[in-house]
Amino acid sequence: MNNISYKKAQSVPEAISLVGGDKDKQFLAGGTNLIDLLKYFLTSADTLVDINKIEGSAYHEIGENEGGLRLGALVTNADTAYHPLVEQRYPLLSKAILAGASPQIRNMATNGGNLLQRTRCYYFYDANAPCNKREPGSGCSAIPGYSRIMAILGTSEHCIAVFPSDMCVALAALDAKVNVVGTEGERQLPFSEFHRLPGDTPHLDNNLKQGELITSIDLPENGFAQNYSYLKLRDRHSYAFALVSVATGLALEGEVIKEARIALGGVAHKPWRVREAEVFLMDKKANEKNFAAAAEIILKGATAYRFNAFKIGLARKAIVRNCMMALNPEESQHPGARP
Ligand SMILES: Cc1cc2nc3c(=O)[nH]c(=O)nc-3n(C[C@H](O)[C@H](O)[C@H](O)COP(=O)(O)OP(=O)(O)OC[C@H]3O[C@@H](n4cnc5c(N)ncnc54)[C@H](O)[C@@H]3O)c2cc1C
Ligand code: SF4
Repeated sequence: MNNISYKKAQSVPEAISLVGGDKDKQFLAGGTNLIDLLKYFLTSADTLVDINKIEGSAYHEIGENEGGLRLGALVTNADTAYHPLVEQRYPLLSKAILAGASPQIRNMATNGGNLLQRTRCYYFYDANAPCNKREPGSGCSAIPGYSRIMAILGTSEHCIAVFPSDMCVALAALDAKVNVVGTEGERQLPFSEFHRLPGDTPHLDNNLKQGELITSIDLPENGFAQNYSYLKLRDRHSYAFALVSVATGLALEGEVIKEARIALGGVAHKPWRVREAEVFLMDKKANEKNFAAAAEIILKGATAYRFNAFKIGLARKAIVRNCMMALNPEESQHPGARP
């Protein structure tokens, strides 16, 4: 048994100074991922700094921000998905969140924690299996092993894990920005630069510096609320991580696409977005033929491992289907949505 100290931070500066540069001190938000990792001895901590009672409405609320919305890092996934402004202006985000986890988990999980959840690679969770993400230099058990849920894009010889979040796929499509603060001050990271590909540093999931705290997430003005869709394909209809997911937002003039956003989940170490495909769709007709051509661009270079070749075809079909669903979003409500 490991002893862990528990401290409650009252303010952001206090939280930052309690964690500082020490990797064994970790922020605790909803605890839905961190506590599991601690229980399985997959991460270590001698101190948990509870950030849930940090003072300041900006961390606990959702509010207007420069034409868009600012989502407090400590707002729960459930409160975010069901917030009237998110439902009205960013239904893509609402739908993606509601496709994830279970109502109980969404009631606990926070927006900041969602961005930092760890992979669900089976071997990462098996402390006896070599895993470069858990123990750098030990090897990757998934490459020669059971690779069914693993990545097909952006992999490296060191890691083929996928990032499991649904919320983040929508945030990537929406061009969100992440506000963080640490001992060196505040900074803002574009969503595309927040998560990392594995390369030769698969133990690093993102570009946060040690001890930096996520304070909020900014959504730009355009929420693609007229034409959007989130499609999550998985082994069970609920309470399962995505094999492939797609977030689509379209701006249309009649049948012509003026702007397109397509992000994929379940296929890479970060939400996967290919600008070239979005540029290709500009000023083209919104039809299956053009979406299929965009899918080819998005999946260029996709590589299958022993058990996941099916994901390439699945992703191709999912992209086309989801883009078609975005043309009639009212007809494609997710069953997890509020009745
Ligand atoms: C059974 C199960 C099924 C799930 N299914 C899905 C799913 O289908 N789709 C999906 O998207 N997710 C799913 N999840 C994951 C869930 O969404 C995450 O566990 C949750 O979002 C994490 O948020 P949290 O607040 O509980 O984070 P915590 O567990 O408290 O923290 C996670 C990590 O983030 C750090 N952290 C938390 N907040 C901050 C902050 N503000 N600044 C800096 N660091 C911070 C912590 O130190 C820790 O390292 C599932 C989880 C479980 C347990
Ligand atoms: S895919 Fe990544 S997380 Fe999974 S065993 Fe290999 S190194 Fe570990």
